[in-house]
Amino acid sequence: MVAGFLKGLLDWRKVENQTLYAVILAVLLGVVLPNFAQPLKVVGDIFLRLLKSIAIPLVMASIFVSIASLRGMEELKELGIKALVYYTATTFLAVLTGLVVVNLFFGIGETNITPPSAGHFEPKQVSLYDFFVGFFPDNIFKALAEGKVIQIIVFTILFALGVLAIVQNLKGKETVINFFSGMNDALLNVAQWVIKLTPLGVFAIVYYNVAVHGLSAFAELWKYALAVLVGLFWHAFVNLGLITYVFAKAKPWEYFAKVREALLVAFSTASSSATLPVSLEVAEKKAGVDKKVTGFVLPLGATVNMDGTALYEAVAAMFVASVYGIHLSLEQQIIILITATLAAIGAAGIPSAGLVTMTLVFSAVGLPLEGIAIILAIDRFLDMFRTAVNVWGDLIGAKVIDTLLRRKNS
Ligand code: ASP
Repeated sequence: MVAGFLKGLLDWRKVENQTLYAVILAVLLGVVLPNFAQPLKVVGDIFLRLLKSIAIPLVMASIFVSIASLRGMEELKELGIKALVYYTATTFLAVLTGLVVVNLFFGIGETNITPPSAGHFEPKQVSLYDFFVGFFPDNIFKALAEGKVIQIIVFTILFALGVLAIVQNLKGKETVINFFSGMNDALLNVAQWVIKLTPLGVFAIVYYNVAVHGLSAFAELWKYALAVLVGLFWHAFVNLGLITYVFAKAKPWEYFAKVREALLVAFSTASSSATLPVSLEVAEKKAGVDKKVTGFVLPLGATVNMDGTALYEAVAAMFVASVYGIHLSLEQQIIILITATLAAIGAAGIPSAGLVTMTLVFSAVGLPLEGIAIILAIDRFLDMFRTAVNVWGDLIGAKVIDTLLRRKNS
């Protein structure tokens, strides 16, 4: 089984393998020949723009089509509840894993980093009011233009229900459904073409990032980075692996092999939203998950289900507290559990979004916000890993929910 998987990795004609080789080569070149990276920025930027340009209309079209193809309110409720239970449970589990790892990893005041003083770095604080009100759009066109994905999702769900509720103007109803369905297919075609460019795009992005950010920042922060990575790997392969095995009745490594292109794109772009076109494509075409499920679970998951981000926020809070010599009690760690889950839900699927919503966690337990500056230097690097885990969590969610629905309907 492992031998088969490794043998599969050698087939250089597969785009997912070319992307993997591209990542490895880019890391090596970024370390050895950092001076040649600059001209590649344009290639990486164009690739990212192509992905991002399809992501927003795709969120709308795929959620709309998915709801329109359901048999009614009952089925939507079922899909929605299953998705929400899955998202919350796995995010909670991720934070819990992060807290366990971090408690095993460092004690207080163990590092020799000097905590920054106030005024050194002032991140904008996210308030709970803004957080909740921010889910609702006041102008859908503004939300679309600004890429406010949660607002777009809320609007699309309402709009799709509105269309389904049309009883008299059936021709109009059909036209709107056909329009979005055609739009969805067209965007997925474009996604397929862009995917052909992933080895090149991913090579450029990773090469540039490794060359620019370098590896020197690790000297002081290696323990923190290690704690985040151990937590992420444990969650991705043990927790989510078991969930795949038990609830989706599938072998996690086989599923991993099928969807790995999306994980590599997530890793290099550090953006769940930009990865969405690829996730939809691999889940449907390579892993055979029902379009109705992927169309709902993946776009929603790309913004609200962020296991990796939640885990990292918890570890970061604990680490910064230890730098300041602050002891966080069990009660405070429970507050971290809740706020990190919320903060991850509120984080957008773009690079460094977790860094912004982390202020929610810091304020909840009274940590100085400027402490976030401590972890900035290696944030882009960790973002790559946590985004890959975020997308992996979404893809497993789609598989689990697909299996549960199929079982019920058979
Ligand atoms: N970059 C992450 C994502 O797109 C969010 C974050 O943790 O910053 O999923």
